[in-house]
Amino acid sequence: MAITAIKGCNDILPEESGRWQYIEQAARRIFERNGFSEIRVPIMEKTELFCRSIGDTSDIVEKEMYTFTDKGDNSVTLRPEGTAGVMRAYIEHKMHAQDPLAKLYYLGPMFRYERPQKGRYRQFHQIGAEVTGVTDPLVDAQVLNMLCAFFHEIGLDEPTLQINSLGCPDCRPTYRAALMEFLQGRLDRLCDDCKRRFTVNPLRTLDCKSAGCAEATKGAPAMLEHLCTACDDHFSSVKRYLDLTGSRYSINPRMVRGLDYYTRTTFELVTGLLGAQSAVAAGGRYDGLISQLGGPSIPGIGFAMGVERVALLLGERDFSRRPDLFIATMGAGQRDKAFCLLTELQNRGNRVEMDYEGKSLKSQMRRADKLRARFSVVIGENELATGRASFKRMEDGVQNEAALEADDIVTLLA
Ligand code: ATP
Ligand code: MG
Repeated sequence: MAITAIKGCNDILPEESGRWQYIEQAARRIFERNGFSEIRVPIMEKTELFCRSIGDTSDIVEKEMYTFTDKGDNSVTLRPEGTAGVMRAYIEHKMHAQDPLAKLYYLGPMFRYERPQKGRYRQFHQIGAEVTGVTDPLVDAQVLNMLCAFFHEIGLDEPTLQINSLGCPDCRPTYRAALMEFLQGRLDRLCDDCKRRFTVNPLRTLDCKSAGCAEATKGAPAMLEHLCTACDDHFSSVKRYLDLTGSRYSINPRMVRGLDYYTRTTFELVTGLLGAQSAVAAGGRYDGLISQLGGPSIPGIGFAMGVERVALLLGERDFSRRPDLFIATMGAGQRDKAFCLLTELQNRGNRVEMDYEGKSLKSQMRRADKLRARFSVVIGENELATGRASFKRMEDGVQNEAALEADDIVTLLA
């Protein structure tokens, strides 16, 4: 029996990879325009990094991590998200010593042990961005605008932006107490997970996907009503900056996010087009994370988007690349010329194909059609002798004569 891929881990086949490159290139373009630079960090980290940052009571740490002991008896984990590793690197390389302000982005695979379904996999990919060293709400708005600009760049109106504030260590305890008081009388209506969350992390009950919990927490107090003055001002300024730049958003007071490190601004880009997998991108401010990981007290904000979900949203569009030219030959005598032209045209930036196996002209033309070449040319004895050939534009069959010289052909293909 042939060996198959691990459940929930996908191959991205050639017909799909064009779509992925399109997404990645658009992200790089938009992020770099905003002054972000790429950072590449390992896919494996010490397990402790994720326990300390994401939080022991989060779904990720409780049940989704790929953790194992390596041959040196160290506990290592395949990264379930990107922020922890990026902040570990930021601290480890003392990037803050020169300038606390860093604007970083990353892309690559993440790993979570989840039940695979449409838009939810065990190896999936994120593109994320982080800004450190700024508390000013202007930067929150810039990060949100950048994320929305990315979706605009790839031509999507969906998803839409929802924002909330989760307060800070000053105001969240008061809110937590108010929420616990509210939940106390409704405990029997919560799912087993949420009964447990009630004591360790009651905010997470607002995020529970079970219908019973959604019903039981209806009318629960919202963090937004309990923000301290500083957090309230901060949130108002974020909204003001978004309004100032004409950005569209809605406020979702129930959004709590699954990672424990968030403070103040949190946000999601949501869509109704992917069923239960409604979040396409998500993030927030994490003013306590860097110090929690042993670094100085420096604030941060960031997001990550799920590339598989973005790819699904792009729908049926065709991203495969077509050859500019297919060079066919009548016989073996023209193959040298064809190969020289192919090499020269490729070196000048064109995508060119030819036959490798001495196939019949008919079968070469079938291949040109199958590859959806923009132009084709047939080189026979006559063409070789005169140094001129007829180039056929495949979409309408129009023939253009040109010299069998790279200069002329490049002009014709342009
Ligand atoms: P969800 O509520 O769907 O589980 P999440 O809150 O766990 O999402 P984050 O940790 O915020 O997600 O990750 C950011 C983005 O990464 C998500 O919005 C989503 O697009 C994507 N993502 C998260 N988990 C997966 C997964 N298992 N498969 C595919 N994409 C994922
Ligand atoms: Mg999740």
